[in-house]
Amino acid sequence: LFISFEGVDGVGKTTQVERLRAALEAAGREVVVTREPGGTPLGQAIRSLLLHGVPAEASAHIAAPAGGGCRRQPTGGGPAAGDAAAPADIAPRAEALLFAADRAQHVAEVIRPALERGAVVITDRYLDSSLAYQAGGRELTADEIRELSMWGTNGLLPDRTYLLDMDPALSHTRLTHDEDRMESAGDDFQRRTRDAFLALAAAEPDRFRVIDASQPIAAVWACIERDVAALTAG
Ligand code: C5P
Ligand code: MG
Repeated sequence: LFISFEGVDGVGKTTQVERLRAALEAAGREVVVTREPGGTPLGQAIRSLLLHGVPAEASAHIAAPAGGGCRRQPTGGGPAAGDAAAPADIAPRAEALLFAADRAQHVAEVIRPALERGAVVITDRYLDSSLAYQAGGRELTADEIRELSMWGTNGLLPDRTYLLDMDPALSHTRLTHDEDRMESAGDDFQRRTRDAFLALAAAEPDRFRVIDASQPIAAVWACIERDVAALTAG
């Protein structure tokens, strides 16, 4: 059984993942909890590049890009206002490939082996995050991103995806700021990403369950608990 949790930053994915882990373990299942980006050692290296940019020493023997410098600019919102000429050191297609590479390694090293020995795998983000983030307002289409991921994972999709949904104005206040470039990309970006997640859920109602994450933690969990009971029974 392969379950993913999706939603914008700060909606409480990690909390619910841990509840689900505890419940399934109490029921005697082996549970593997993991996340993207960064579910493997290679993935951790990729995560660091994606979230914190390319380290300065990587440019030591490289000709300076036109415009100079190598500061990372937040993605998703396009160039920040007043900063339109800032060089982006990870091109959108390269970024999409890095997320896809992270996922390919994640599936090969962690997810498939666990599923094969009968464990339940719970991942904090998967393909849908790439679709919502990389295809939302950037230069790539959802179909392109999906194709990359399907190739990278040899077609592995979750059996169930819980989309924790709430107004980004709310979720923003709940962020425990591990200040990274993604989370600082702006409210407008979070709003577009939320809408992208909702559209994905609407397109695949069998795989997705959309849960109102503005409810108290216990109420969100009750929705998941009920649904998982049906899943594990069937
Ligand atoms: O959920 P987590 O904090 O690990 O995600 C790290 C950041 O990467 C988030 O801010 C999220 O917005 C971004 N992200 C992304 N594309 C993905 C997965 C995560 O832009 N496929
Ligand atoms: Mg986060």
